[in-house]
Amino acid sequence: MAFEREKKIMRILMGGCNQEISTFNPVPCEYDFFDFLRGEEIRDAAMGNNSSYAGAIAELETAFGDDLDLIFTYDAEGAAAGPLEHSAFLRIAEEFLEPLKDHVGKIDGVYFSMHGAMGTTKELDPEGYLLEEARKIIGEEVPIVISMDLHGILTAKMLDNINGLAAYHTYPHVDFEDTGRRAAKSLIRILNDGAKPVAARVRIPTLVRGNELITETGAFGAQMRYSKELEKHPEVMSAGMFICNPFTDVPELCCQPFVFTDNNQQLAEEAVLKQAADFWSNRHIMQGQFTSLEGSVKRGSAMTGPLAFYDAADAPSSGASGDSIEIAAAMVKANYPHTVLTSVVDPTAVSKAHELGVGETFTMGIGGALDPRFQPLKLDWTIKSIADHSNLKMETWKFRLNPGPTAVLVSGNLTVVAMTKSQMMVDRTIFFDNGCDPKDYHSTIIKTPHAEPAFFDDWVEAKFNVDAIGSTSANLPTLGHTICARPMYPMEQDAEFSPRTEVFRRS
Ligand SMILES: [Zn+2]
Repeated sequence: MAFEREKKIMRILMGGCNQEISTFNPVPCEYDFFDFLRGEEIRDAAMGNNSSYAGAIAELETAFGDDLDLIFTYDAEGAAAGPLEHSAFLRIAEEFLEPLKDHVGKIDGVYFSMHGAMGTTKELDPEGYLLEEARKIIGEEVPIVISMDLHGILTAKMLDNINGLAAYHTYPHVDFEDTGRRAAKSLIRILNDGAKPVAARVRIPTLVRGNELITETGAFGAQMRYSKELEKHPEVMSAGMFICNPFTDVPELCCQPFVFTDNNQQLAEEAVLKQAADFWSNRHIMQGQFTSLEGSVKRGSAMTGPLAFYDAADAPSSGASGDSIEIAAAMVKANYPHTVLTSVVDPTAVSKAHELGVGETFTMGIGGALDPRFQPLKLDWTIKSIADHSNLKMETWKFRLNPGPTAVLVSGNLTVVAMTKSQMMVDRTIFFDNGCDPKDYHSTIIKTPHAEPAFFDDWVEAKFNVDAIGSTSANLPTLGHTICARPMYPMEQDAEFSPRTEVFRRS
């Protein structure tokens, strides 16, 4: 006589908190800079997207089918910015943690989506704080897995409080969904197979930047290919490597491989040691390549164009304030003979333009309104256009941009799109929305380290990675780190590395 087994419903709680910051941006980020999703809004937003949530949901649905109950709590998403105002973080943390209290003793597992490069004006390990507090609420027994960006800073506090982790294997990032799936797979192995995770990592005293980190073509790709091979091993639960966000100056900032195995500490330690040794030997080539500011202006002057000047040092997408006008100022100083298009964050200049109206002229220094590194550029400006559009859909991703009121200001052969709020400039969205097509200009200054080739690189005569000042400069020794462990390459060229594994096991 057969008895039907009582069906076990798997109750999995899902939430997240994502941001990366530049410590060197002097403008703190506020609460209203974030977008928030609550409850089923998280599932709705994930549907049909290449997102880590979508991947985790799909993997859990495949594993548990009708026996799955997903509980969505709270998700906070902030674009890159300066350090988060601590009071704003405390509010977000409370909103993140509070809903967990309703599910104590009623859930089988937890998935959190995290970036890993947050920082507040006081807390140097916000994700560690969130995970530690979450652990206190839900108890020691419920497994927590997380997904992370490979630019995250994985900390001991995070590792002490999680049972599984998956991180992107691609840069530029394309494997959001896959990463969510891999995180969920770890959770499924723990719940279904009784896997006993043990993690190892090695902290490598180096920061890196530049094209060798592009996983398809650069040296760093070897680490990702090895991670993927490791994940095929039956005892490996997940593997990856963090190259960290070098602008988030926190105590555990460094590059680090990690491996989670099912109770095989030796395998985890051997794998991270191999990754670390291979990576360390390539640290010299994984650095930014630049043209000096004066050199790029001089070379550009003599070229037919069109040209792209990349200003990675003031890239809002990396957490900078976006108010540098240094490259344009150098062009003005050098009597640059061509038309130039650039952007700048300057709320005062924008409101002045809106006050005066199109066609009027005024004299003022623009730029340098936020970051004292930057000097304003004082010229006579003619107001070509003004606008106040919101929810601009990015040319590259599906995110929305909200630059606030904007104005197009012209002085001689220089055209500046001035905006009220710092926004990502990885594509041409804000230029287009203000009636400026980069193809109509000899030279365009773009505040990002990279852009999709079709936007600029495919049609320009040359591009310059300009060694300008700024809070997200790829010239890392110029930034002034004070908190991360030292010595650290490339700040200390003679930094030495004695590989040491750290092992984490929850049980
Ligand atoms: Zn990233």
